Amino acid sequence: MERTGECHSCGECCKTVNMTVVRDITLQQHGSLKELQLYLSYRGIRVVGSDEKRNQLYYSMDVPCSELTQDNRCRVHDSPQKPLICHRFPSTKEDIEDIPNCGFGFHPALPGWPAT
Ligand code: SF4
Ligand code: SF4
Repeated sequence: MERTGECHSCGECCKTVNMTVVRDITLQQHGSLKELQLYLSYRGIRVVGSDEKRNQLYYSMDVPCSELTQDNRCRVHDSPQKPLICHRFPSTKEDIEDIPNCGFGFHPALPGWPAT
């Protein structure tokens, strides 16, 4: 896949924290997905995806980054303080699945073009 486009500073990717957890153990602990969702909802955490094959559940929580300015700029942009994951974001199309307005997109690489 080839990444195209550019960041237009909507700030959406800096407003949530996403986590991946082990699906079967988590569901065992809570008894069911419904029970897990109830438990997490009291902490502001949403279950946004489930992949049985990969044995993964995906969480998202609204925790804005402290380095995000009011006009959606990154205070640590171009500095060694910027986390690696932010430098790389988005690295897959799944990264922006829930952000339809992201300025980046992913498209199959054209034949003869170097893969990115
Ligand atoms: S969601 Fe996309 S366009 Fe918006 S700030 Fe993040 S990288 Fe930039
Ligand atoms: S460090 Fe910068 S790019 Fe990373 S989440 Fe915070 S504001 Fe966004």
